[in-house]
Amino acid sequence: MDAKEVLTFRVADAMPEDVGQGYVRIDNDDMAKLGLIIGDIVEIQGRKTTVAKVVPCYSQFKKQNLIQMEAIIRQNAGVGIDERVTIRKVAHKVCNTLVLSPLDTTIDFSDAQDIRHLERLLNGLPVIIGDKIKVTLAGARAQYFTVIGTSPQGPVVINAATKITVTKPDVQEDMSYCASYEDVGGLDKELQRIREMIELPLKYPEVFRQLGVDAPKGVLLYGPPGTGKTLMARAVASESRATFLHVNGPEIVNKFYGESEARLRELFETAQRRAPSIIFIDEIDAIAPKRSEVIGDVEKRIVAQLLALMDGLKSRGEVIVIGATNVPDMVDPALRRPGRFDRELSINPPDMTGRLAILKIHTRSMRLDSSVDLERIAQMTHGFVGADLAILCKEAGMNAIRRILPELDLRAEGLPPEIMEKLRVTANDFLQAFRE
Ligand code: ADP
Repeated sequence: MDAKEVLTFRVADAMPEDVGQGYVRIDNDDMAKLGLIIGDIVEIQGRKTTVAKVVPCYSQFKKQNLIQMEAIIRQNAGVGIDERVTIRKVAHKVCNTLVLSPLDTTIDFSDAQDIRHLERLLNGLPVIIGDKIKVTLAGARAQYFTVIGTSPQGPVVINAATKITVTKPDVQEDMSYCASYEDVGGLDKELQRIREMIELPLKYPEVFRQLGVDAPKGVLLYGPPGTGKTLMARAVASESRATFLHVNGPEIVNKFYGESEARLRELFETAQRRAPSIIFIDEIDAIAPKRSEVIGDVEKRIVAQLLALMDGLKSRGEVIVIGATNVPDMVDPALRRPGRFDRELSINPPDMTGRLAILKIHTRSMRLDSSVDLERIAQMTHGFVGADLAILCKEAGMNAIRRILPELDLRAEGLPPEIMEKLRVTANDFLQAFRE
């Protein structure tokens, strides 16, 4: 039974000698209130939930309502220094098997010796699924792993008998960049709908279940290339703190020839393990062309597999598949039946107001000369989509840099202030970029 008693603490940094120990320190009077003895496991709840061993703090930290925790534990609890967490005692079990996924996917951990070393290092550490673990292998720099599976589930403590496996996922979590809603311009209404359809069920699946409202399993975005479909999908994933898995339709069909079905299965398995997740399938028409078109056996099998995987998604809302296409009419109608891609959203090229919003986003970190009139540029760029506008802004910035290049002393460190002062992007820089 988990204890009902809960106390709130203010987060403080750990003492240097505690780093890497996997425990947190609190006042021993508070330990007594929570029914804890040294080495008990506590659940720490911030924006996320994690577990750690608890030990008493030193006397100078008593009576301040502090919890001392090192960076990796703060990260696992989703809090920073001076923020609040709640603590309670939790029951835990011995971890029989532990599945880890390295954050740096270039490392190969298949070596039995490496695994034994890991087993020794992690002995005694309490974990739950979703935690990040930091280990320093002999002589190497620190390596990070994500706990992606444990048996049993729930809070577990690793011991000498725990069997550790390190996976090397083929589909990597795409962390190349995190977008936010502020990075998407001219699609306010579309973004609003995406948030309702995707962010809400990802964040509050239980609300949808209780109300008996079906969360979507699949959402189809259609619109011309470069209008921001991928950008929106990334933004909604990072704002919902969901795993973002990105695959490309043609790649599944061509590059993984002969293994496409297995790849798709792995993709869905990864998504479910790391739920909440968004699977983003770009150019989905390549996998699932209309069956009336002449299509080969390969595509037929891939469509069947994709449909089976979507039908098999257990809990609605926790894994959402977003398919993007330029040609909605080309998508197999079977994909658009209820329970599959049953929501659609068309993403159109921006109008004048939309273009202005997008230009503002892509000039956010530029120093613009007073000659620049973004409204005028928005008027001139009829027919441009977001991607075109992004390139236009980048080119204008490059033009400004080229202009001052001859004056730069490349040996000097940093730009001298008088040059920085000159480094402004002018209307002319935009005009030149526009003409090219
Ligand atoms: P799509 O997936 O529709 O082909 P992307 O989302 O890949 O288009 O767009 C490519 C790039 O163009 C984005 O990373 C972004 O820099 C820019 N972009 C496209 N649409 C927008 C938009 N609506 N607002 C801001 N930037 C955009």
